[in-house]
Amino acid sequence: MDATHDVLIVGAGCAGMRAAIEAHDAGADVAVISKLHPTRSHSGAAEGGINAALGNAAEDSSESHAFDTVKGSDYIGDQDAIEILADEAPGDIYQLENWGAFFSRLPDGRLAQRPFGAAGSPRTVFAADITGHVLIQVLYEQLVKRDIKVYEEFFAWKLVENDGRCQGVIAWDLLNGGLKTFGGKTVVLATGGQGRIYRTTTNAYACTGDGAAMALYLGVPLKDMEFMQFHPTTLFPTGILLTEGCRGEGAYLINSEGERFMKRYAPNAMELASRDVVSRAEQTEIDAGRGINGSVMLDMRHLGAERIIERLPGSRELSMVFAGVDPIYDPVPVRPGAHYHMGGVEADNDGLTELTGLYAAGEVACVSVHGANRLGGNSLMETITFGRRAGRAAAEWALANTTVDVPRSAQDDAERELKSLLDVKDGERPWQIRQDLGSSMLENFGVFRREEQMAKQIEILEELKERYDRGVVIEDKGEVFNSDLTSAIELGNMIDLARCMLQAGIARKESRGAHARPYDHPKRDDDNFMKHSISRWGDGAPELSYSDVRVTKYEPQERKY
Ligand SMILES: Cc1cc2nc3c(=O)[nH]c(=O)nc-3n(C[C@H](O)[C@H](O)[C@H](O)COP(=O)(O)OP(=O)(O)OC[C@H]3O[C@@H](n4cnc5c(N)ncnc54)[C@H](O)[C@@H]3O)c2cc1C
Repeated sequence: MDATHDVLIVGAGCAGMRAAIEAHDAGADVAVISKLHPTRSHSGAAEGGINAALGNAAEDSSESHAFDTVKGSDYIGDQDAIEILADEAPGDIYQLENWGAFFSRLPDGRLAQRPFGAAGSPRTVFAADITGHVLIQVLYEQLVKRDIKVYEEFFAWKLVENDGRCQGVIAWDLLNGGLKTFGGKTVVLATGGQGRIYRTTTNAYACTGDGAAMALYLGVPLKDMEFMQFHPTTLFPTGILLTEGCRGEGAYLINSEGERFMKRYAPNAMELASRDVVSRAEQTEIDAGRGINGSVMLDMRHLGAERIIERLPGSRELSMVFAGVDPIYDPVPVRPGAHYHMGGVEADNDGLTELTGLYAAGEVACVSVHGANRLGGNSLMETITFGRRAGRAAAEWALANTTVDVPRSAQDDAERELKSLLDVKDGERPWQIRQDLGSSMLENFGVFRREEQMAKQIEILEELKERYDRGVVIEDKGEVFNSDLTSAIELGNMIDLARCMLQAGIARKESRGAHARPYDHPKRDDDNFMKHSISRWGDGAPELSYSDVRVTKYEPQERKY
């Protein structure tokens, strides 16, 4: 073994760093492994804000936060987990503030809060429109202050199971080359999302679902894989996000006829209906020929220059640089884009997975707080609250158990597999398969889902898997920053995760949250499908089963906006 720690955290975004801080403060020797420098993690791209019922902008309560989240989840979020999030969020926000997060403020000095989609009260705490950037800097400072070891630019490839426990991680050293074996009494996965399965997405190149795939291959179940959120305001043509904060500040959506079309889809909430509702409305307008170049327009002009510059400076800059439009003067072209994966590694309220010693937190996990549709601002909060809880639980288990044993054979097997990957001489380049994966997922598993398209996509994925298994050619055989190698591994992960998504999607014969089947199963079917999809790795392919949704006090109702 190259190094051993009590707690190994894989991933250094908001979830991973918050978990590391907590595990350290609980007395554990902690190390973080990350393929990126922590502050380059994708959490840093979060813009609009983080939800907590502080009640600073209007009356609010954690009960109201919980109810909005349950309703937004289309009733398959686990209600005990949602109540934990809503109850513990305010304390976590003040903790971040005490560490130095410079949130935007009201004139009287309290933290400002803006309205976000489907929230009954303005409860999104924010730092202009760079909230994630602020959080990631603050958390990193806390890591540095505690002298927590970070193995940065190490690509985690495999989890090691021994004696019925997760006891380590095998990683590729990106800077120097070579495999390194890390032992840990517990391991926390915090590797983020998998938006890169789609050709256009708001997600960074690093969001390739590695953690979910590592867990899957170890036999750990994934949950609710069919639910990929499409965010309504991604810039045309790049797919870069314009925050929901724009609509929170009052921006309108208009079609090619200049109509505020949301009045026909969500007459009360209008542009601040939940994301699944707004994305479907936009896609319907575009499909009906009332779009402009496959987009609708986000109109901020009436907010005025002063408000746009003060509250939405990042969104303005993105619009100017990537769409050539200054929102002070012109509407900005936007369309739905793959944004957030509600599914992930099944974890309990303390992040524990089915495998002893293995925990998951943040976007890689499915606790499930978001169910079939995540509310804006709840993800950052989940990374903090459930990152903290997972860090504490992982540390407590590690401190109560003494041994770590990673058998030599685990590294030997990985070395052999690596060699056979690098030895492939004839075959396709990984990017060719990656391109086909991204385009076909966008085409066949997007905002609206049709049975025949999903069936076709399953065939496409099987072909992609065959092409991948025949061997992809990694031209770069070098040791230093071999992104050819890591992108080939990421591709294998993404193909298998996509297969889990499609298998669960085609089997869910209803419309719920982000899974919309308006042509054959237009309604939610609580009798048959108020349950979680569970994907496990079988004989070279995923196998599907179901588990119950945990209900505390909110019985399912029809969603109205
Ligand atoms: C553009 C954008 C804006 C958003 N805005 C908001 C918002 O305003 N409010 C909100 O609530 N949510 C928002 N979200 C969602 C939210 O930001 C993310 O869900 C959340 O930040 C994910 O955090 P994380 O810690 O789970 O993962 P990440 O921040 O993605 O971190 C993942 C970490 O895992 C590491 N990693 C991954 N794979 C490996 C591997 N194989 N080996 C080693 N390390 C690995 C990476 O290096 C990284 O450090 C936004 C998302 C996007 C894309």
